[in-house]
Amino acid sequence: MTDGFSVSFAKIQKKVNGIDFEYIFEEVWTGNIVNKPPVIIPLSESFFNFAKINFIHTKMKHFIVITFALLTAFVSISAQHVIPTVESFSVGEIGVYAFPNRPLKLYTHRIAQRAENVLLTDAIGGKVLKKSMKPTTADVVLLYDANCETEAYGIKISRKGIKITASTHNGFVYALQTLRQLRNADDTYNFCTIVDRPRLKYRSFMIDSGRQYHKISTIKRLINICSALKMNYFHWHLTEGQGWRVEIKQYPRLTSVGSSVANGAEQQGFYSQDEIRDVVKFAADRGVTVIPEIDIPGHFEAALKAYPQLGCQNDSVTIPESGLTDQVMCAGKASSWKFVTEVLDEVCNLFPSPYIHLGGDEASKKRWKICPDCQQKIVENHLADENELQLWLSAQMANYLMKKGRTVVFWEDILHTEGVSLPDNIYIQWWNYLRGKETGLKAAMRAGRPVIASTNLHCYLNFPETPWKGYAKNRTFSLQDAYLNNAADKAAADFPDTVVGMETCLWTDYNLIEEQLDERLFPRIYAIAEQMWSRGKRLEFNDFQKLIPSGIFILK
Ligand SMILES: [Zn+2]
Repeated sequence: MTDGFSVSFAKIQKKVNGIDFEYIFEEVWTGNIVNKPPVIIPLSESFFNFAKINFIHTKMKHFIVITFALLTAFVSISAQHVIPTVESFSVGEIGVYAFPNRPLKLYTHRIAQRAENVLLTDAIGGKVLKKSMKPTTADVVLLYDANCETEAYGIKISRKGIKITASTHNGFVYALQTLRQLRNADDTYNFCTIVDRPRLKYRSFMIDSGRQYHKISTIKRLINICSALKMNYFHWHLTEGQGWRVEIKQYPRLTSVGSSVANGAEQQGFYSQDEIRDVVKFAADRGVTVIPEIDIPGHFEAALKAYPQLGCQNDSVTIPESGLTDQVMCAGKASSWKFVTEVLDEVCNLFPSPYIHLGGDEASKKRWKICPDCQQKIVENHLADENELQLWLSAQMANYLMKKGRTVVFWEDILHTEGVSLPDNIYIQWWNYLRGKETGLKAAMRAGRPVIASTNLHCYLNFPETPWKGYAKNRTFSLQDAYLNNAADKAAADFPDTVVGMETCLWTDYNLIEEQLDERLFPRIYAIAEQMWSRGKRLEFNDFQKLIPSGIFILK
């Protein structure tokens, strides 16, 4: 006590629907604390830190009215209002903060400026704040704290206002994304203290814009979803058999021909280099790095339609309606390697990401077996077979990008053989759990490679919840499956030194159109985001399910 005046609040306990609740009757303040109904706290909330609840108020400046309100209007104070859940949530003084009715002040450290520009207005309900040079007198403070880890942040909401601490742009982005969720419908905030940081360093979402073209506005909305769920990478699958979507100046036919090789209404189009630069900046402002994927040597029919000479036989190209053909990029011709390096030069100029994804999945070896150039490469490099030829090609590409300071991500398929030594800058993405279970994970571990876990069960959100088109029952899963049975999540726990990240993928096979994306994403993406981010004690599924917002809280 500092000013000699204090009061203990009344408490009663009651059973509601079989659950013990403790009611704490809260004062009604005048001034900048608005009327709130009593606080109700389920006693079963084990992670809730009761020890920190301080029922003694020491600075009473206004009169106190003990109030009773309807049970249905009670407000539950708990960390569970934030998804993904935060690492530490505590309540000292109980109350709510409302912006005072006077000109408001904001202090922003320069490192927080980008995050403030993009996210603060929404997080504080459109309030207008005037910049202040002094954090001590501001109502909202974005303060640099060197003690915060790279992506960590803190939030303290008290009668003084809202104080956010972080040491990086991403830390401030995540703090403001959390603050958006803490805002009550009446623009108030419950007093609380949050300390939060991620479980995994690589948290990624993938969209397949190769099979289906997506409008830029759709891409930006997906990036907003990533940011809101605290994912730091957006893996943009830009090339497929059904479409080449990234403009490459040195190979204009890739887009003039390759972006319109399929027949669907939403399979036409490509992204100009200006549009891509705009998307990359939009994402970076929101704490998201865009990782491009150029799939080599398979899933390559659209590129071959534009430049048939990149194939082994230089013959006519069939565009698959779905699935694959045996037409892949030739691994033996000098012109193929020239193509690869020139495309990667432009891709690296467009995307500053430390990671470049080069696919490598599901590449048929049928054409390579009868190609003199491919066979010549096998002999020259003392390779055993066509699988080793693909591994050798992958190593060449990784070596090329190593000189540019990039790490290359490949799908697990390149490790179908082990006969070629690999450079260090390769990550392996483990995906085929349905068919291979942990084969990809184990192969990566044998090769000593970091793993991005995106097991198709239960990270592929294109797998619907009920059978649809080519998705039979064994390729469906529910929110509960994703939350409880995700092999990627389990591997991240069991092999933390190997599994550095998780990714959730939204492929657009069978012409999944834009208006169908949300029903694939929600609500299951919340479960995967929780697994990627949350370090707190894992909630029971029923409790987790209650966290899922009824609406989508993503910025438009
Ligand atoms: Zn060839």
